[in-house]
Amino acid sequence: MIEKLKSLNKKISRNAYTILKDRYFLKDGEGNYLEDSWEQIARRISRHVSSAEINYIKDEKEIKRIEEIYFNLINSRVFLPNSPTIFNTGKAIDREVFQKNSEDMTLQDYKKIYDSRSKHNMLSACFVVPMDDSMNGIFESVKQSAMIMKYGGGVGYDFSVLRPKGSSIAGTGGKSSGPISFMHVFNTSASTIEQGGARRAAQMAVLKYNHPDVLDFIKAKKDNNGNSVLNYFNISVDIDDIEDFKNSLENDTEIKLKHDISDRKGNIKAEELLKIISENAWRSGDPGLLFLGKHNQYYAMSEHTPVSATNPCGEEPLPPFGSCNLGSIDISKLIDIIDIGNPFSDSQRLFEEIIYWCTRFLDDVIDINVYPLKEIDEISKDQRFIGLGIMGMADTLYKKEISYSSEEGRKFMANATAALAYFSHVSSSKLAKERGNFPSFEKSKYKDGFIPMPLLEDEYDEFIKEWNSKIREHFKNEAKHFKRNVQTNTIAPTGSISNIADTSSGIEPNFMLAYIRYMTDKEGKKVPLPYINNILINKLNSHLTENLEAKIIDSGTIQNIEEIDENLKKVFVTSMDIKPIDHLLAQHVIQSYLDASCSKTINMPNEITVEEVYDIYKKSFDLNIKGITIYRDGSLQTQVLTANKEK
Ligand code: UDP
Repeated sequence: MIEKLKSLNKKISRNAYTILKDRYFLKDGEGNYLEDSWEQIARRISRHVSSAEINYIKDEKEIKRIEEIYFNLINSRVFLPNSPTIFNTGKAIDREVFQKNSEDMTLQDYKKIYDSRSKHNMLSACFVVPMDDSMNGIFESVKQSAMIMKYGGGVGYDFSVLRPKGSSIAGTGGKSSGPISFMHVFNTSASTIEQGGARRAAQMAVLKYNHPDVLDFIKAKKDNNGNSVLNYFNISVDIDDIEDFKNSLENDTEIKLKHDISDRKGNIKAEELLKIISENAWRSGDPGLLFLGKHNQYYAMSEHTPVSATNPCGEEPLPPFGSCNLGSIDISKLIDIIDIGNPFSDSQRLFEEIIYWCTRFLDDVIDINVYPLKEIDEISKDQRFIGLGIMGMADTLYKKEISYSSEEGRKFMANATAALAYFSHVSSSKLAKERGNFPSFEKSKYKDGFIPMPLLEDEYDEFIKEWNSKIREHFKNEAKHFKRNVQTNTIAPTGSISNIADTSSGIEPNFMLAYIRYMTDKEGKKVPLPYINNILINKLNSHLTENLEAKIIDSGTIQNIEEIDENLKKVFVTSMDIKPIDHLLAQHVIQSYLDASCSKTINMPNEITVEEVYDIYKKSFDLNIKGITIYRDGSLQTQVLTANKEK
């Protein structure tokens, strides 16, 4: 395996190097760089994380072997852990042990790393903290989330717990100011925190669709231009009871708005509520919808610790005090050597092996992690959530010359995700045999042969039929007895790590095929760096003239460029070239195989109507979708990328 990974080693791009220098190279107390190459980072991460192996292995050679495997997975950029693991491993630990030659490492060295962990070594990206309907409880949550965000984690909360605005407060005889007013407190707190000294804090606020303040919540970000109101929040309305909502839509009846500890009540027709949600999302991208009922349906511990919110980007549902560390495999690199998604191909063995080691890596992270709160430490170790995902989907489809919008594209996406789900679950069971089940396993639904994902119909595709049968067999037999992690797969946005890996992000189409990134040089001058998708460059080959390059950079897409071949146009689609329904169907097939969730935006052209947004939301109720986020091109002034503009 290692030799195969080495064969994929490619020179890191200037773009990736700039990001590393900006945010990931370790610095000393005075701000001097202690690192200047990806290889050094890969060594630091792999050595730090493999030191968790001392809990299970006493053989020095074996731990060194595992360190080498982790190192090669990361150094080749085939596998990247989430950002907190990249910038927090090795922090505040004696440098010497990371500079040693691999041959010279001893058990004591690994033990030294393990024992010198401190609060600086917080390695997870996703958290949910509880909310309590009391001043004490609310400000306790503010403090807890501040601690998490400080070290690089994103936090989600269920604000539905808070009584609606205008409810009586027994202690003071006054009236409550309601969940939205408290969200501003969390926003201000987040605005003062720079995560891990490297990035902005991020939060998710959830409110149930039948909370009496739901309309205020939906409009809470209406004046946001990306830079102002509640700008450290994504917000999602939780339609936890989809059947109730659909009934109300079909029968034109009213939803009762209510809260356990308040006499404030109200009614609203589901259709009207969904229209208001659609209007606001059309205007500013917020709110999204979340279906926590479905999340709980596929969560093996929902009867004991139901999930109450997701992390900021929506891919990881968690119970209060839950946390998850993520990692992503770049399938666009592996597609050169593995027939990904084909269950009958011999090359699956290599995919399985890679997934086993990535799963083991993430499981090690749980042990070596230093959690910001005791309660988080407990639940994380009790259920051992990990989120292994894939990135580079769009680039892989380019390489395979399949369109993201086609049935063939969807089949590939479904098969690739099914392979991920199957192998990661098999790996988790294998780890359980070596290390034991997650402590709460006996209480989980796995005991009854539970399958934590919806699956597509067998008839969908012959490969899917094969994956389904493997998955069913696994949960019917093996997983009843062995499971190391309550959840194993999640597809993250990979906003930063996909740039480090020089690949397309998560399962998203590329936003643009070409753009100019402006870098500031030492003299403070802005230097334009033209970027064109590498795979497109290879495909265009000698046809790529300077003139054509300029045209592609100018529009970001190739759809309107006459001299480009029609077949190439079908394959090299960007987010905005893809119809909203095709975005939704991609999410549907992918989410059919995930036990957690995925980060996906249904991108829409600027001219889309509110009614079309409404229709997309409505369609999502009947698909294997656990949440939905839409974005209309140009609706936020501070959109991250526009064609030929500064990034
Ligand atoms: N996240 C965060 N702040 C950020 C970006 C991400 O807290 O600025 C958290 C958040 O929970 C998000 C998760 O990290 O859902 C994964 O995001 P992404 O994959 O983009 O992170 P990366 O590992 O690429 O930095």
